[in-house]
Amino acid sequence: MSHVPAVEFRRVSKRYGSYEVLKNIDLSVGAGERVVICGPSGSGKSTLIRCINQLETHHAGEILVHGQRVDGGPSDIRRVRQMVGMVFQQFNLYPHLTALENCTIAPVLVRRLPTKEAQEIAMRHLDRVRIADQAGKYPHQLSGGQQQRVAIARALCMESKVMLFDEPTSALDPEMIAEVLDVMVRLAESGLTMICVTHEMGFARQVADRIAFMDRGQIVEVASPATFFTDQSNERTRAFLSQIL
Ligand code: ADP
Ligand code: MG
Repeated sequence: MSHVPAVEFRRVSKRYGSYEVLKNIDLSVGAGERVVICGPSGSGKSTLIRCINQLETHHAGEILVHGQRVDGGPSDIRRVRQMVGMVFQQFNLYPHLTALENCTIAPVLVRRLPTKEAQEIAMRHLDRVRIADQAGKYPHQLSGGQQQRVAIARALCMESKVMLFDEPTSALDPEMIAEVLDVMVRLAESGLTMICVTHEMGFARQVADRIAFMDRGQIVEVASPATFFTDQSNERTRAFLSQIL
């Protein structure tokens, strides 16, 4: 493991207008580490991870990705998005492109790979999420679970060092949640750095090195799963878990 953290927040704050959505966040995620972020709706989880790849910009403090400061400038955004892949709750696939094309468009346009090479990489990642046989289909021809697996493959195709997941299973019907979590568990085993917002506590218990609990714009507690689930020193964490477990 490298000594330079994969992602580091140093006293990061963010406002929407006068509303302070992130308050003085400090968090360091090591290369290869898997961190699960949970907490009540509206606590700032999406904003936190969207700041990493600059889908949102922070107002104060510093965010570093593999030691390089993310400052929101145009060349910086391009660089950081090549290092950081993201999977969204609503999949966000391009509806007019096939699964394979969804996976090759950014590598061809952004990484400037030859189409054939991008296709080979895409098929490898589609196979990794067990959906290579659906490569020619359009999103509307796929189930939600299949679409989300294509979205994961698409993010992997940028060969990012860090993967962000924002509630990747919460838009799925219950019977499809397992197939997506299953893929994510196997990714976690492959040594990728993962920061995952989810309320799937079984997943958190199985793969997380640490679990961070957010409330009202702050990280209230960070602990190993063993500690998090058995020894909640924090009352807000306890109240949250009693609602979802
Ligand atoms: P979570 O993902 O934990 O549910 P979010 O990061 O989405 O929380 O949102 C945190 C807070 O910021 C919420 O109160 C939300 O209403 C507010 N918020 C999120 N996005 C915006 C925005 N673009 N403009 C103004 N307020 C926002
Ligand atoms: Mg959210």
